[in-house]
Amino acid sequence: MLRGFIYIILTIFAITFIRAVIGLIGKAVAQLFGPENQQFGKSSGATPSGGQLVQCPGCGIYVSTETKLRKTSGGKKHYFCSEKCMKDFRA
Ligand SMILES: [Zn+2]
Repeated sequence: MLRGFIYIILTIFAITFIRAVIGLIGKAVAQLFGPENQQFGKSSGATPSGGQLVQCPGCGIYVSTETKLRKTSGGKKHYFCSEKCMKDFRA
């Protein structure tokens, strides 16, 4: 009876531990690929490193000026974190 109880407790601990580890790995991976992917959950591959950091007019996230997601409007260049922000942007 007591053995069974200890076994259940250990199983619960193991599940909790595994979930925590998976959560940490998920966070680390999300940080590797940048905060914009944490927000949208999908990688657009549009944020290479380097260049200057400017704010995305759609959501305020900082993006690199090296990004391919850019638009020139009114003589001003705008850089976007995602295609969604670029589509939503009207100047
Ligand atoms: Zn954005």
